[in-house]
Amino acid sequence: MKNDISHFQGKVEQLLIRHRSVLDSLSKYQETNAKVNRAITKTITFCGCLTVNASSQDVPEDANFKDLKEYTNTHLDGCLCEQCKDIIEEKIGNNLFYMAAICNLLDLDMDDIIEKELDKISTLGRFNLS
Ligand SMILES: [Zn+2]
Repeated sequence: MKNDISHFQGKVEQLLIRHRSVLDSLSKYQETNAKVNRAITKTITFCGCLTVNASSQDVPEDANFKDLKEYTNTHLDGCLCEQCKDIIEEKIGNNLFYMAAICNLLDLDMDDIIEKELDKISTLGRFNLS
């Protein structure tokens, strides 16, 4: 995985000419993020392979960590069809491209970021995401 990320970040550096400005990369990053959200939304509103069935998530105060999965729900029903999966993967890839571009512009190493985050979530565990 580490080599794939470094290779990807290096390839983005080679290819990124048009949106070399940090302002272009920031706005493209935001735009591609919106397209990820739009693609996921369309699985529900256009394709229908996923549906949303949402309600409040009532977790008893005395529930322990092991029990949390019993009381929480993704609010999703169904499975991504192949077409929606392909589209969402493409949109996430575009978003990753601009994330890598921003990292390059700021001289940040995506491998280091992922490693630090992995260490953080491994250390903090369940308390990290609250
Ligand atoms: Zn679908």
